[in-house]
Amino acid sequence: MTSENVRVRFAPSPTGPLHMGGVRTALYNYLFARSKGGKFLLRIEDTDQTRYVEGAEEYVREALEWCGIEIDEGVVAGGEFGPYRQSERNSFYREAVEKLIETGHAYMAFDTPEELDAMRKEAEGRKEVFQYDSKTRGGCRNSLALSVEEVEGLIEAETPYIIRFMTPDEAEDIVFTDEIRGEVCISSGVIDDKVLVKADGLPTYHLANVVDDHAMEISHVIRGEEWLPSAPLHVMLYRAFGWDSPKFAHLPLILKPTGNGKLSKRDGDAGGFPVFPIEWEDPDSGKVSKGYLEAGYNPQAFLNMLLMLGWNPGDEREIFSLEEAANAFSLDRVVKSGARFSPDKAKWFNEQYLRSKTPASLSSELVNLASERGMNFDSGEAEAILTMMLERVSFLHEIFDAKWLFNAPKSDDFNAKLVRKKWKAETPLYMADLKEMLKSITPFIAEEIESQFKAHLEEKELGFGQVLLPLRLALTGEGGGPSMFEFAEFLGLEKTISRLESGVLEIEKLKAE
Ligand code: GLU
Repeated sequence: MTSENVRVRFAPSPTGPLHMGGVRTALYNYLFARSKGGKFLLRIEDTDQTRYVEGAEEYVREALEWCGIEIDEGVVAGGEFGPYRQSERNSFYREAVEKLIETGHAYMAFDTPEELDAMRKEAEGRKEVFQYDSKTRGGCRNSLALSVEEVEGLIEAETPYIIRFMTPDEAEDIVFTDEIRGEVCISSGVIDDKVLVKADGLPTYHLANVVDDHAMEISHVIRGEEWLPSAPLHVMLYRAFGWDSPKFAHLPLILKPTGNGKLSKRDGDAGGFPVFPIEWEDPDSGKVSKGYLEAGYNPQAFLNMLLMLGWNPGDEREIFSLEEAANAFSLDRVVKSGARFSPDKAKWFNEQYLRSKTPASLSSELVNLASERGMNFDSGEAEAILTMMLERVSFLHEIFDAKWLFNAPKSDDFNAKLVRKKWKAETPLYMADLKEMLKSITPFIAEEIESQFKAHLEEKELGFGQVLLPLRLALTGEGGGPSMFEFAEFLGLEKTISRLESGVLEIEKLKAE
């Protein structure tokens, strides 16, 4: 296949929000297209009106947009193979299915649900499973078993009917190559005469999918493993139409953190992690599920995590930008077995993303997060905060958990246990000396504060632990955090001194209790 004609599609059904597995499918398709200089299409498979969920299509588009997965062709983006919404393409499916009927690959079936049920029950009685196929179709009410007059009569009487695919009379092996799994072979004998057109005149997934993939000149069908059982039928449909079938690649499942079974929304609820890319409000229940966006993930980190859930570059690398991923991606490095999702690893990817950034490059994002919280600071302050905190958080919003960054700790904010352990009778004296020393430092910058601090300890013959931890306690109320020299610079001399004074007073009060 030359690079010019690689065309892949992401074809979600708008039956609910896009799960992270769906985003991964979109991502792999997108990366494959980019790696081959091909096109990435978005087609909406909305033929099943009974499962249609309001807002689901918009959700898909918004989610892909947040991720930065750009659509070359499709709904909204447009293109010469449209329309890209299956509900607008019924004439294509009608024409196609008529061709199948003419060539003897499909037929009309008038069996009522009750009749089918009776046949199922009867087979059960014989400890068998009823399958509508070459062995049974002769005994059913369809255009193969009935006379031409009977069929015409039924149609005239407007009897509802469906159109079924006619599987081969003699079972044969359906063989095709999956780009990930290698050769797949399934006997046509285990496949029933699948419904192609439903009684409402609308196509089923199978018919619409195959007709559209052909019409849209799709070169590779890259989709979830759950569609692997449908692939042999699709291969038979391509043959029946006399069309070349596209190449297939079925992606592995994303497994629960325990490794047992497919990851579901319930696992996310139970484990406190998102399974959707962005927030989803269920139109029926009104229940809101937060997404990766709301959890504080950068889309690049989210995609990086999905990239590594089922693919590896063949070496130790784990961190990829979208562009790097497009250069490195290939289907032959997609794994066959399920990929276990780890919430901790997901978090790790966001940490790695943050670590790769400079404070300056994230400052405007932090300013925005602050103003969402009703706080105001400029990008210079944001940069200073980030310089101290970037290494210490998994998500930018965690910076706001460190309340002492923004306000002097109040009496309840002091870590009482640490105070009890580390604040000695002589500590207030050390703090008083320290205060005087701090006042003499110019310029009041971290480096200078640090060197003067060290000299001061030497002079007083005191250890770091005797002075630095109490200083930290007085300034922040806590026992851990960034460099206190950087923090003092951030506060400035005046605030450092006033926090030190009020901190000592509060801690002494606490000690007296
Ligand atoms: N509409 C199917 C889905 O919702 C698409 C499967 C395919 O890509 O063929 O996943």
